[in-house]
Formats: sequence, C-alpha cells, structure tokens
Amino acid sequence: MTQTTPRPLTEALASGGDLLLRNLRCPEALLMGGAPAGAPVDASGTASVDMLIKGGRIAALEAPGRLEASARTVDLGGRHVWPMLIDAHTHLDKGHVLGRAPDSGGTHAGAREATTQDRIAHWRHDDLIRRMDFGLSCAEAHGVAAIRTHLDSHEGQGETTWGAFAETREAWKDRIALQAVALVPLDAWGTEYAPHLADLVARHGGLIGGVTRASGGTHGSLSDIDALLDRLFTLARERDLDIDLHVDEAAEGGALSHVARAAIRHGYEGRVTCGHCCSLARLPEDEMHAAIALVKEAGLSLITLPTVNMYLQDRVPGRTPRWRGVMPLHELREAGVPVAVAGDNCRDPFYAYGDHDMLDTWREAVRICHLDHPLGAAAALAGPAPAGITGLKGGSLGVGQPADLMVLEAWSMDQVIARPQSDRLLLRAGKLLDVALPSYAALEAAPAAHEAA
Ligand SMILES: [Zn+2]
Repeated sequence: MTQTTPRPLTEALASGGDLLLRNLRCPEALLMGGAPAGAPVDASGTASVDMLIKGGRIAALEAPGRLEASARTVDLGGRHVWPMLIDAHTHLDKGHVLGRAPDSGGTHAGAREATTQDRIAHWRHDDLIRRMDFGLSCAEAHGVAAIRTHLDSHEGQGETTWGAFAETREAWKDRIALQAVALVPLDAWGTEYAPHLADLVARHGGLIGGVTRASGGTHGSLSDIDALLDRLFTLARERDLDIDLHVDEAAEGGALSHVARAAIRHGYEGRVTCGHCCSLARLPEDEMHAAIALVKEAGLSLITLPTVNMYLQDRVPGRTPRWRGVMPLHELREAGVPVAVAGDNCRDPFYAYGDHDMLDTWREAVRICHLDHPLGAAAALAGPAPAGITGLKGGSLGVGQPADLMVLEAWSMDQVIARPQSDRLLLRAGKLLDVALPSYAALEAAPAAHEAA
C-alpha cells in the first residue's frame, strides 16, 4: 500500500537549505560507484539510502540510519529518487512544427520532404529561438539535466541556426547544459561548403555530424561513402572535433561498418557516436555479430532512439508493422559497446509526439527493447551511459555532485515504469524547482523568454 502525493513533502522540500533525506530508493546503476556499503539492494537492483545535501550538493550517501541528523530531516518513506537525466540525441531546431509543416504521412521520406519545406519557409532566427526555448522548457519541467542536439546545417541555414543555438545555450546555461552537432547529408562534406561548416562548428565548440545518405537520397545509396567519410574525419581531426552520425536509419543500410573502418583508419577510436543503426538488427546473426565486433574494435558509441524508430521504421500505409526498428541493444551491451537511449524528434514530421521527457523515453525503451526481466543496470542507459558518451554532466547521484533530483511517487521499479510520473518533484541544487510545462499556446506568437527579458 503506497501513499498519495503528500503536500507536506512538497512543503518540506520547498524551503531548501541543507537537508537530510532519509529512506529514499535509487537504482544502483544511477549511483556513482554503486550502492554505499551496507545499503540494501532489492531484486530490481534498487538501493535504499539516506542522502545529506549541503550547499546544494550531495555531501553524503550512506546506508539508511548511518548519517547523523546534522540538517533538517525529511523522510521520503522509501520513494524513488533519481538524478536528472541526459538526452544525448535530439533535434531542438526541428521540433514543434506540427500543424504548420506539411503532413509527412509518418514515413522517413515524407518527413524529410516536409521538414525541408518547413525549414525553407520558416527557420529564421526568432522562429528557431522560440521553438528551441519551448523544447527546453518541456525538458526542464521533466527533469532533464543536459541535451545534445543535432542542428540541420545546410548551406544557407547553418549560420542562422548555430547563431540561434549559441544564444539559446547561453540563456539556458544554468538550467540545461547543451551540446550541438552539425547535421547534413553526407555528400555535403564533399563540397566546397564543408570547410566553412567545419569552421562554424569549431567556433561554437560543436561536433561534426551528418547522415549516411546523399542529399535527397535514401540510406544505403552512397557509392562514395568511404571518400566522404575520409573528408569528414579529416575536417574533424584538423579541428580536434568529435563526431556524431545518423547511421542506417532504415531497414537496409550497411554504412555502419564503413564508419567503423573510417574511425580506425583515422585513429578516432572513442570519439565517434552513431545514432539509429536500425538495419543492424535485420542482418543475419553471423553478419550482425561480425558488425558488432567491428563497432567494438572501432570504439564507436551507439545511441538508440526507440520511440522514433518504432514510429518511422516499417511504416507502410494500410499494413501493420512487422518489426520495431530498434538496434540490437542487448547484443551491443553484451559485446561491451557503449550504448544509450535518447529521445530524438519531438512533434515534428519525423515524430508527431514526444515531450523531451527522458524518464518517459527510458520507460518506453524498457518496453520496446525488452530491457526488463531482469532490469539489471537498464537505468544507466538514460543517465551514466549518455553522460559517458557525451561528456555532459549529470545523470547519476554521487558525493560532490549537485543535488539535481527527481522525487517520484513510486516505491518500486515497476511503479516507476507503470506511470508517466507526471507528479514528480524536481530539486535543483537541493531546492524545489517550481516550473510547469509550457502551454502549447505559448508557441503561437509569444516572444521567447530571453528575448523578452
Ligand atoms: Zn536524429
């Protein structure tokens, strides 16, 4: 029998200051260094601990009952407390255009066409700022600590978008940490625009990226992929930039092994992330395992985007989808490849839904990818794993870390996964965060918050 959301808990946390939180639960996978000595861990991998917060940071994490009451004490009664999570793959520049962009039909080809039309018609400075602000406001209200976004960086668009991104990153720097990746079709790296784009990315401290298909083409359509990857890696290496690519977002691809070999050729092991890799799951078992071994050798990190993959892949009008679109996550984890779960698109032609909620993305991933029975360290895929891949801070709880927390009305992992946790309480630097989801009405005409300020 669990309790309902107690107002006294909200009030107890609202006053801030140093706090001793007694009797909280947290998945061991989200605790830096694992469960503290003597802390009980249940069959779902969840530890019971007490946490001392001083000066906005976690000063101690111990087994229940071991900490002296040196600060005001709040008993959480066994509730789950999670760190704020990290979304390692989004598209803040594309988001929240449903209703104005042409209908995509829910297909990848339709989404590319609809997004191109929307970009050409609307993606000016103020429009980008407004929509990125909206997306970040959603993320903040859901307890997201940090985001890596891809930015469409076509010639004629790149300067505008990266300028708007830089303003947004500055405006949000104390609330959500931001990274950006230049996204263009791979053949753009073979043009005269390429060094200009690479310089733009370097000026903004971003990552080189791209999608392993030609402009207007489908995945698997690049005959000169190795030469294009060599150019991309050379431009990245000359500027000491990491790489994050959209790879094989289709039922058939084959680019992943080319990317892996390019990473080895250029000595870029450990510096390349690949998103999607959908077609990897459809290879014959022996070919799939050989490809995974090559990915491991090349030091690639892979990010799966389950909600968007399930939405776009295997969609044929009037026909029921036969596969889920996701990469072979279990096999990759088993092989020791760094993997993470991320959100991808939000309310745009590539995905009509989503709300920048990483806890929701993780809950969906558990169901879509069968991360349960047992859950094991699955929670790491939304916190420590994306932190490790991106270098962004957050995603786990440890002594010395900021007390950026989500207090959930859940006492077990199945309860965390069963409900959307819409009533979660957020603490930033140990203080209750009083933010609400932005209204969709705010997207219509209101100036962005930091424009008005
Ligand atoms: Zn993407």
